[in-house]
Amino acid sequence: MIDLEPTLKRIRALLAEDTEQSATYAALEARLALERVCYDRLQQHHDYISSAQLRKWQPAAVINTLIAEVDEHAAVTRTFSVSKGPAIPGGNPADEEYVTVGTEVGFNPKLVGELWNALSGLALHVKLPKKRGDHIPDYGDACAIRTKVEEVLTELERLSQTTMTFSGFGPEVSFTCSCGEKNKRRAGLLKEGHSTFCINPNCKASYRITKDNDEFTFESELTEVKCEKCNEVNSWPVRTFYSMKYDQTASFNCRSCGSKNLVRWRLMRRVRPDGGPTATP
Ligand SMILES: [Zn+2]
Ligand SMILES: [Zn+2]
Repeated sequence: MIDLEPTLKRIRALLAEDTEQSATYAALEARLALERVCYDRLQQHHDYISSAQLRKWQPAAVINTLIAEVDEHAAVTRTFSVSKGPAIPGGNPADEEYVTVGTEVGFNPKLVGELWNALSGLALHVKLPKKRGDHIPDYGDACAIRTKVEEVLTELERLSQTTMTFSGFGPEVSFTCSCGEKNKRRAGLLKEGHSTFCINPNCKASYRITKDNDEFTFESELTEVKCEKCNEVNSWPVRTFYSMKYDQTASFNCRSCGSKNLVRWRLMRRVRPDGGPTATP
């Protein structure tokens, strides 16, 4: 968990200098701090989601993905307490005395996104001239930048009150990938038919989720290609080919006979499963 206090001090010191330059540098520090605090929360959940499955890197998008895929309560502030005495069978938990162990301050992804965008618009771009002779200023409007940085400081100070992090609540399921990595997921957020990526950044494996009653199955998603020479079926994780471009050619040596095969990424016309007229792209 990151300690935001040194960053908060730097931002306050820059605002205290009270110049156009220092306000701009304070905005940069504040924007980086918003990114760090969001990515730190992501890092605490990395056992549950692959970074390759984050569709966007912007701080608000990262938090929204965490809420959808890992911890549906990440927007809510949660406090963990333990009772001072042992649990009494039949007793009312509300009557117990508790000691606070830690608090995780909830994120508001919409607010974080708005602040992050506003800092960029006000402070981190030079104003575009509209006509010949327009003055091109060195910096943005210092007063507006200062006001926005102060808003961000308030939010960062609130988030810095986090003393522990939770990985979410509810039953957990796990599977071990072919690479040996143990993957954990929150059962309540798994969706039938969706794909989930192995959390190992060096592994391309992905798994299709199926649910039968309360049992989850993770089925390896593979691409299979028959060898041109010996007909042996060679298979790879489908993600191996995601980085290929349309019309690009790649090669592989057959696992059985060693013969070199070529594969190409092509657009194909699909025959409808019901046997009806085909749709052409
Ligand atoms: Zn793996
Ligand atoms: Zn072969």
